[in-house]
Amino acid sequence: MSRFTRRSALAALGVGLAAGAARAWAQKQIFDPQGGSGGLKLTETQIAAGQAFALNHPSVDVHSHPGRFFLRDITKQNATTRAMGLPFEAKVLTDMSVGHVTAALFNCVSDAVLLGPSKTAGLMAEREFEPGEAWAEYQRQIAVLKAMVTRGDAAPGLNGRDISHAMISQRPAAVFAVEGGDFIEDRLERVHTAYADGVRSVTIVHYHPNQIGDPQTETPRSPGLTPLGRDIVRELNNIGMVVDLAHASMGVTRGAVAIATRPMMISHTNLKRPDLDHPRLISVEHAKLVTTHGGVVGSVPSGIGQTTLADWIGSILRLTDAVGIDHVAVGTDMDANFMPVFSDYADWPLIPAALLANGMAEGEVAKVMGGNFLRVLAAAQR
Ligand SMILES: [Zn+2]
Ligand SMILES: [Zn+2]
Repeated sequence: MSRFTRRSALAALGVGLAAGAARAWAQKQIFDPQGGSGGLKLTETQIAAGQAFALNHPSVDVHSHPGRFFLRDITKQNATTRAMGLPFEAKVLTDMSVGHVTAALFNCVSDAVLLGPSKTAGLMAEREFEPGEAWAEYQRQIAVLKAMVTRGDAAPGLNGRDISHAMISQRPAAVFAVEGGDFIEDRLERVHTAYADGVRSVTIVHYHPNQIGDPQTETPRSPGLTPLGRDIVRELNNIGMVVDLAHASMGVTRGAVAIATRPMMISHTNLKRPDLDHPRLISVEHAKLVTTHGGVVGSVPSGIGQTTLADWIGSILRLTDAVGIDHVAVGTDMDANFMPVFSDYADWPLIPAALLANGMAEGEVAKVMGGNFLRVLAAAQR
């Protein structure tokens, strides 16, 4: 019996099987109509297919905070960071190897020391940065990532070639990323410093309304990107980083796409539904701002409108129906997610297993699990 068949996550999976391979995946019968154990489950053969898939294809988690590395060596704890406990990168890197995750975007959190709970949106900035604080926080967190790669705990993830090597060596690659462009302040040269540090993606806005624009979780101060924000987006494009528009307001997204010279990404979100609205969810129109320019949208296994792994698989399928197979990715927000329905990288092969079981062809699953992001990364670095 494999490790996976013993897991409780699997027992709760309840992903049903649909015959055929019609294009409207989300319309398929993927949920157990009775609920609970009466429904179809992934068979051992299907789970084995997911494991074989994970071994044979490069896969990328487009948004992650493995083991909450961003808390290591933190000096300015607040109630939120204290509640998160101690970082545990080593355990999660082992889980990634077990699950054959080829690479993940290891995200620093620019505004981590500012954050507190919000009644409506999960988190919010409780205060402003002190002078020098945003840059000091960037330097602390990027040093943690560099040490991880220097020690050999994670493989480098500077480009597609590194990610191919990581797959062969079976050691997960860390693609350095920063959630929140706050650390750039008004210093465009910091985009160059970050690139030299190995950063390959910046989520320009997080929870703190910053010099670039407003998050989707706050009442907007301005309709779109600030003039400085436009300069920063251009600089990120020019240097070859993937611009991540997760958390950004629709106005900021529109503004960024309007000046983009490279495909962009919304790394961790899901679509609103007629019965479900939340500030962190986006409309199909919002998603298409990015996907019609060649970009990708990552589906997140958060507890917003999802209570099981099967719900998340449903969200991935709905997103695929809405924006097309070439524009969907997986962004788990691992270890900093809100009530996650997927929280163990050892279960990673269940995702391709469930997508294959729902009628996606192997090549299509390969796009969702990593191929689409690798295309966007290559286009950013061209
Ligand atoms: Zn986020
Ligand atoms: Zn995150």
